Amino acid sequence: MDVSHIFDRLNESQRQAVASPPGPLLVLAGAGSGKTRVLTYRVAWLVQALQMSPLSVLAVTFTNKAAQEMRGRIEEILGYSIGGMWIGTFHGIAHRLLRTHWREAGLKQEFQILDSDDQLRLIRRALKQLNMDDGYWPPKQVQWFINGHKEEGRRPQHIAETNDRQQDDLLRVYRTYEELCQRFGLVDFAELLLRAFELMKQNEVLRDLYQQRFHYVLVDEFQDTNSIQYEWLKLLASTHQNIFVVGDDDQSIYAWRGARIENIFQFEKDFKDTQIIRLEQNYRSTETILSAANAVIGNNRGRLGKNLWTEHDKGDPIRMYAAFNEVDEARFVVDRIQSWVDCGHARKDAAILYRSNAQSRVFEEILLDVGMPYRVYGGLRFFERAEIKDALAYLRLITSRQDDPSFERAVNMPPRGIGNKTMDLVRERARVNQIAYWDATLALIHGHELPSRSVQALTRFVELINSLDEQVQGLALAEQVDVMLCGSGLIAHYRKEKGEKAEMRVENLEELVTAARHFAHDPEDEVGTLPTFLTHAALEAGDAQAQRWEDCVQLMSLHSAKGLEFPLVFLTGLEEGLFPHQRSLQEAGRLEEERRLCYVGMTRAMRQLYLSYAEVRRLHGRESYTRPSRFLAELPSKLVEEIRDGFVMRPHGPAPDEKPESANGLRLGDRVHHSTFGEGVVLHVEGRGEYTRVQVNFADKGSKWLVLAYANLQIL
Ligand code: ATP
Ligand code: MG
Repeated sequence: MDVSHIFDRLNESQRQAVASPPGPLLVLAGAGSGKTRVLTYRVAWLVQALQMSPLSVLAVTFTNKAAQEMRGRIEEILGYSIGGMWIGTFHGIAHRLLRTHWREAGLKQEFQILDSDDQLRLIRRALKQLNMDDGYWPPKQVQWFINGHKEEGRRPQHIAETNDRQQDDLLRVYRTYEELCQRFGLVDFAELLLRAFELMKQNEVLRDLYQQRFHYVLVDEFQDTNSIQYEWLKLLASTHQNIFVVGDDDQSIYAWRGARIENIFQFEKDFKDTQIIRLEQNYRSTETILSAANAVIGNNRGRLGKNLWTEHDKGDPIRMYAAFNEVDEARFVVDRIQSWVDCGHARKDAAILYRSNAQSRVFEEILLDVGMPYRVYGGLRFFERAEIKDALAYLRLITSRQDDPSFERAVNMPPRGIGNKTMDLVRERARVNQIAYWDATLALIHGHELPSRSVQALTRFVELINSLDEQVQGLALAEQVDVMLCGSGLIAHYRKEKGEKAEMRVENLEELVTAARHFAHDPEDEVGTLPTFLTHAALEAGDAQAQRWEDCVQLMSLHSAKGLEFPLVFLTGLEEGLFPHQRSLQEAGRLEEERRLCYVGMTRAMRQLYLSYAEVRRLHGRESYTRPSRFLAELPSKLVEEIRDGFVMRPHGPAPDEKPESANGLRLGDRVHHSTFGEGVVLHVEGRGEYTRVQVNFADKGSKWLVLAYANLQIL
């Protein structure tokens, strides 16, 4: 078999990894050294050189996007499709196992996935059932408690009662929450992993089956596996020991979600005769970017340490922009991207990265303003938008009447006269009789306990859902969605509303039909299309935008940028308290994780890297003066070029290298005096001519928006 086309595109150490004999192997190497490439080629090698069936391979990646990309690459190398091969995220694979073996896993066939919001709602319900006050027991804290235990593989019965009152109370909520999930067939994200693990652990027949089926197990981003994921991998690979993992200790960024960097060190001990391969050549970035990233991560202790080098040129310096505020920052970034595009580059080659998802909004606004297409990964995701969740709630309810979170969402959306009072009665009945809201509603309708108006409204709702269920039978997925959107009155509801926001919601709902149309259903999957689509919506939020075939600027949090690369990268919001994040300043070990995150961010850049911070930032509704991030001070100054005064705002988009003169000579950062408010600094200028408005931050009175024509400001 000629496999030279595989070897030609690898360096010596990479080749060694790709063609290593079966057995445990750990590739430990820095960013951009070809770890993912090696993993991909390894699969191709197994299939082509060793003639293994693609079905005998299990490849686990970290995001869905990464999984899709890997599948594409492997097919490219092989020259044919590997449709049946299992490539996916831990959650995706766990879900597939549970769908296939729901009975053995002790689940209902039509079990539904709870996303984080739904989970919080159910936790609130558990608290209520226990008469515990959700002011005293913040649901988020309970969620953290429950998920933390699940990630470590602990069910309530594994947690010993203590003398600690608080601990025991949390445990009671965990128990009640579990009962609710079980009763209504609901599975949260952590549960997916735990159940799949327990399934393998407890069911010998299935364990044997999958151990034999997946003769080769490969894992990317191994440094971010948590306990339960690692235990599950060990179960799968324990007999044949053909486990191939790649990772980088410097890129472990999910400790806050239970990831255990220790798994890298543990691997060698758990798998005897592990071969360790290091890759040292970086193929991604310019020398400048690589040196700067190495300098920053060099401030962390307890690293395994590595020597990364590149054959690439020095390239451009790293550019640092100190913005006046977050709007200025966003305008600067968008302006630079515009110049980049004007030079003939693709928009998709530019990425805006941020620490916190909330930062995306300002960028989105400016991008919309200038009409530049963009795509947001994570955070404000398509499937998380309110109207989409409304629509999904109907689809879920059609699929499973027992799904209470969906019942609650759909029952009065669009408004149909089912108020909180009526819902309280439904909830109460459900609690007392330990039944789902749907069944409680039926009982109330037949029990003549409600005012006739409520009975009528509830009856109409029940009939609506039943009738939608009938109507969608036998239809293709996209038509099912369409029928539901019209029948439920959702789309009509938003059409009636005025304004841009409502319009956007209608567009989003229409986009859902498109998403359904493009949803590729795996024919091997035994589950029907609608349930699979719903799970996809819960699990793979964000994909609907991602599949739109348009050249778009990429926006994402640093966490979701892991493993990716872009020619032009903007790392934004480098401010103390934002990045490094406030929480990390108080907890030991967290600062180092923030620094790793910074390293991940910088090493996404191939050719140009911009770093920016805002001197004043409004975030979560509060405005504050900031200090530049400590990570900026860790950069070797000879690699950095500062940009500041060459950038001025125009009413429609910024214009670099132009003398400031907008807004009657007023410019950002100017100190001004107002007869009532006193002295302040100009933060923002908007509009033109008589419509010009300025935002001024007054020393005593805080920030105010003023119409320039009337404000009578004096420049100091
Ligand atoms: P990260 O740690 O960020 O996940 P990685 O180690 O997985 O990075 P890859 O994404 O696999 O690195 O590779 C980085 C870039 O270098 C990719 O564009 C890849 O195609 C390229 N590359 C890797 N090895 C080689 C090689 N031998 N020849 C040419 N290009 C290579
Ligand atoms: Mg990688």
